[in-house]
Amino acid sequence: MTSAATPTRAPVGATPSVRRRLALQRPRPVLVRLYAAVFSELGLLGAPARRRGARFVARSLPAIAAVGLGALVPLRVFEAPLFGWPQISAMAVLAVALGAVVWRRVARTAAGDAATYREQLELGSVFVVAAYVLAQSAAAGHGESAFQAVVYLVMAFLVAFLAPGVGAALVGLAVALELLVWAAHGARGWELPDAIVHSGFVTVFAVLYWGVLAAQVAASRRDERIAIDRRMKEIDQLARSYRLTVAAPDDAQDRDERDRRWLEGAVIEIEAAVGGALEVAEAALRCHTCALFWLSDDEKELVLRDCRSPSEAIAREPFPAGEGALGAAVRQGRAIRIHGEVKGATYYGDGMRPRALLAVPLLEPRGGFVRGVVVVDRLEAVPFCDDDERLLARLAAEILRAIDAERLIKDVKQGRAETDRFYRSIERLNRTQKPADVFDALFEVAREMVPVDFAAIVLREENDETRVRVVRVFGGEHGKGALEGHAFTVDSGLVGSAIRMDMILPVAAPDPAKTPVFGDVSLKGLTSLKILPLRVGERPVGALVLGAERRNAYAPEPVRQLNVVAMHAAQSLERAHLFDKTERLATTDGLTGLVNHRTFQERLDGHLAQAQRYGKKMSLILCDIDHFKSVNDTYGHPVGDQVLRGVAKTLGKDARTTDVVARYGGEEFAIVMPETDTGGAMVIAERIRERIGKLVFETEQGPLRVTMSLGVATFPEDGTKKAELVERADGCLYHAKRHGRNQSVSAASLRAPRRAAG
Ligand code: GH3
Ligand code: MG
Ligand code: MG
Repeated sequence: MTSAATPTRAPVGATPSVRRRLALQRPRPVLVRLYAAVFSELGLLGAPARRRGARFVARSLPAIAAVGLGALVPLRVFEAPLFGWPQISAMAVLAVALGAVVWRRVARTAAGDAATYREQLELGSVFVVAAYVLAQSAAAGHGESAFQAVVYLVMAFLVAFLAPGVGAALVGLAVALELLVWAAHGARGWELPDAIVHSGFVTVFAVLYWGVLAAQVAASRRDERIAIDRRMKEIDQLARSYRLTVAAPDDAQDRDERDRRWLEGAVIEIEAAVGGALEVAEAALRCHTCALFWLSDDEKELVLRDCRSPSEAIAREPFPAGEGALGAAVRQGRAIRIHGEVKGATYYGDGMRPRALLAVPLLEPRGGFVRGVVVVDRLEAVPFCDDDERLLARLAAEILRAIDAERLIKDVKQGRAETDRFYRSIERLNRTQKPADVFDALFEVAREMVPVDFAAIVLREENDETRVRVVRVFGGEHGKGALEGHAFTVDSGLVGSAIRMDMILPVAAPDPAKTPVFGDVSLKGLTSLKILPLRVGERPVGALVLGAERRNAYAPEPVRQLNVVAMHAAQSLERAHLFDKTERLATTDGLTGLVNHRTFQERLDGHLAQAQRYGKKMSLILCDIDHFKSVNDTYGHPVGDQVLRGVAKTLGKDARTTDVVARYGGEEFAIVMPETDTGGAMVIAERIRERIGKLVFETEQGPLRVTMSLGVATFPEDGTKKAELVERADGCLYHAKRHGRNQSVSAASLRAPRRAAG
């Protein structure tokens, strides 16, 4: 039998392996293909594949046994009446299959391989079938099997150890077997409840067991979590006692997490060093107990950190630091060596008396502070010698060095955090736009870098280089009210010197309460003081004054950094002033310093909208100097300008802070008065008119006086729109001009006679 299809031709020059593959692709007769499919699956094609095939069969044997014997279960061939050699052989095969799957799993587990789903299914089904075979073999005829419970137990066992999906599949298999047994036995109605009860039990056992197991796993996870939390707390506490934790400088959460992990590592590192040192001491000094006790923060108690001792009575709880041999070592800061009947071993809870004891304090190399004590003792009367003491002192130093090293790493880390903060503060200063923002930013930054209970910013006066003024004070208790706005000459006080000499003062630490700081004003209640000049380029423009209640609050390094920040702040201040000036130029009139026409229009819009929204009144005054043209003509333009400035100044003085006073045009001015009715506006208009009438301008041609005419209109009665209101005020002004000038006219007064006439 050959195929009708043309064989695929191997391309010229194809390699032998390509040829072989192409040959395999040739269509073949159906039987051959079936054969090939089965045996290629089994891996039996070709000589080298034979071994693989054998392995496949061996691997599949347990599954084949499970399927084959499982199929026999519904036929009830294992029940006692039929029992004979075939059954025994079948059970032997099953036992071998069981052994094989268990052995294979054990071997793989040892190799670290997790069981695949297929493997779990195979193992589980062999077990289930075996359980059924066993149960059936113990059944007397059609009666209940004595071993039925084995099926339930096996089920529970499998569910506990296998994946949930596999467990469910095995429950399905058991239920199917129950129903098949029933069906194969004639599907008799009265036997169905039995099958259902069995299936039900299998399911209930599996579910119950799985539930119990899940609860147990959850409980143990919870315990584990609690244990981890406890350990973390312990590490935290240890880190504090080793002085690893300093007030956290950073707020970012991941930074916290990193810090926490670092601390964990540091504590473990230190514990390892302590453990190592104690082991060396134990081996080298042949002692009974060898322990490290740490001194509490208040130096009142000693706490066991680690020990090597066969004694169970070593005090685990803190005990008073001043007593016994350890107390002597702590108090005197030197090694204590005793022998004989030692009564001072206070660290034994059972009053044990060693015959020799050596206690060495842990002395910080800097400052000589005692941090704890290492103690070794012996039960036999062999005193510790000088060499022993030297060794233990070395070990104590080693422990402290380990802690120091970790602390050093912490310092470096903290240094990095400080640099970060430094750059952040400079960025922050760069973002400020208004002088007040710069003051706030500078103050915040300073407070982050050094202790600050009082801060002030002093700036040179704009129009007088020899004077400075306190423009901002933080920290109320130290006389903020009196200080803010206080001006003094740069010749006086420490601040004046710092600005004049352009240097950070004071160099030493004088008593701020006795030293004149701001002119002749000194600061009370502060023991630390630092004045940092603020300069733009080479030009000192002011100073930042910092004070703290704490002694020696200003270490050189942070002050150096703060000085750089202060320089940036001065630049930012300069920029902010420039910004202010530009803004002022854009919104004010150059000659009079009043709001210009464009800004007046904007402000009027704003106030009108507010009055509308809140149902409030609002008045507008338009005024014009009388016969101003003749002032120019008679006295000249410069005098005209002088008159304009004088009038503007008077207007500014008479207006309230909420009012907007603007130069409306040449010699015309406008005043917007929020929350003011016609009556109120007329009072102010008259006052202005009278004041202007009293102004006297000295000129070359003698004294000059001017008068002014004013028109008043009020929202909403004289107009609800801006144009309407302006037109009405202008009408009133025109009326005043037409009726003799030097008078105020309101729209209401013009309306009244008309209405009376009407
Ligand atoms: P009245 O308002 O009483 O009717 O008479 P008036 O002379 O004031 O009238 P008018 O409005 O015609 O005159 C305005 C004059 O103001 C014209 C102009 O020369 C003068 N003026 C406008 N702006 C300035 C300025 O900035 N400086 C000076 N010196 N004069 C100005
Ligand atoms: Mg005019
Ligand atoms: Mg005029």
